[in-house]
Amino acid sequence: MMSIFDELTESFWKNEEALSTEYLPKLLPHREGEIKLIAKNLLPASRMGKPQNMFIFGPPGIGKTAVVRFVFRDFEEYSERIKTVYLNCWDYNTAPSVLSKLVIELGFFIPRRGISKDEIKERLVEALKKLKKALIICLDEVDQLVKRDPSVLYDLSRLNQYVNVPVGLILISNDRFALKDVDARIKSTLALQEIEFKPYSLLEMKDILQERVKLAFRPGSVEEGVVLLVSNHAVKHGGDVRIGLECLLRAARHAEGRESKTITVDDVKSVLGLVKPVKPKIIEARLDESEKLLLEIIKERKELETTKAYEEFNMRSKVKLSDRRLRDYLRRLETLGLVETELVKGVKGKRRVVRYREN
Ligand code: ADP
Ligand code: MG
Repeated sequence: MMSIFDELTESFWKNEEALSTEYLPKLLPHREGEIKLIAKNLLPASRMGKPQNMFIFGPPGIGKTAVVRFVFRDFEEYSERIKTVYLNCWDYNTAPSVLSKLVIELGFFIPRRGISKDEIKERLVEALKKLKKALIICLDEVDQLVKRDPSVLYDLSRLNQYVNVPVGLILISNDRFALKDVDARIKSTLALQEIEFKPYSLLEMKDILQERVKLAFRPGSVEEGVVLLVSNHAVKHGGDVRIGLECLLRAARHAEGRESKTITVDDVKSVLGLVKPVKPKIIEARLDESEKLLLEIIKERKELETTKAYEEFNMRSKVKLSDRRLRDYLRRLETLGLVETELVKGVKGKRRVVRYREN
C-alpha cells in the first residue's frame, strides 16, 4: 500500500533540472544541420589538421550556445587529441583574462596578478606544447570582448606560429555585425566561416519544448494543449526558447500551488502574463546594435513614420542598411512586443507609423 508519505512526495516532476536553461539535452531537435556543419569544420583537428574557424550569429535563445556545447562534448568524447574550451565573454572580456583562463583550462597554473599579457601568452604556448592536443576555443557573446579588447583575436589567430598544434576558434554573437570594427587583417587571418542561425518556427518550437517536457515531467501529467500554448507565446516574444522554458516552469509552480497532479492549459494561461512584463528590459538588453539604434529612434519620437525611422537610422548608424533589411528589424521589434505599427490613411494615401510600446 502506498504510504501517506509517498502520496505527499509523489508529484508530476521527473527531472526539474530539464527545464533549466543551463541543461544540455542529449538531443537538439531541428539543429541537426548546424551540428553536422560545425562538426565537419572541426573534424580535421582530430588528425592534427587545421580546423575551419567560424562566426555564428542569430537572435537570442535559438540554440547557438547549446549547439556548440553539444558539439564540444561530443568531440572530446570522440577524440583524445582534442581539448575544447568554452568561454562566455561577459565573464572574460579582456585579453589577459581570456588567455589566463585558457591556461587554467589546460590544467596549468597562472598567478592572478603581476603577470604581463606576453608572459601569459608564453605560458599558454608552453601549456599547449606539453598537452599535445588540438585546442578548440569558443568565445560566446564575443561582442562583449571585441568592444573592449579585440587584440586577443589577433593573439589567438597567431598561436599556431609558436606551437605545432592546431587551434580552432568559434565566435558567437547575437549581433551579425559584432565583428565589423575588427581589423581587416585579423579577420583575414582568422578566415571565419559565417553561420547564421535562424529562429525556430512554431512547429519546431513545439517539438523542442515537447522534448523538454518529456524529460521534466512524468508521462500523462501535462494536459494536451499546454506545449502548443507555451510554444506560441515563446515564438510571439521573439522565438527565445528560454521564454518557453520559463512559462513551463511557472505553470508547474502554479499547478503545485493548487496541489494538482497535472499541469493544465489553465495553469499556463494564468502565468503567461507573468512571463511577459519582466521580459522587455531583458529582451532590449539582448538586441543587436542595429536593432537597439532603431528602437532608440522610435523611443525618442514616441511615434513616427517607418520611412522616417529608416532615414534617421541611416543618418546615425555606421552601417547603412537597405529599407528591406530595416523592415525586417522593425518586424522583429514588433514580434518582441517592443513597438507596434499601424497603417494610417492621410491626404496623400496610406502610410505606416510605428509607435514605442510602454510596458
Ligand atoms: P542562444 O545561445 O542562441 O541564445 P541557447 O543555446 O542558450 O540560445 O538556447 C536557449 C535555451 O534553449 C537553452 O536552454 C537550450 O538548451 C534550449 N534550446 C535551444 N535550441 C534547442 C533545441 N534545438 N533543442 C533543445 N533545446 C534547445
Ligand atoms: Mg548563447
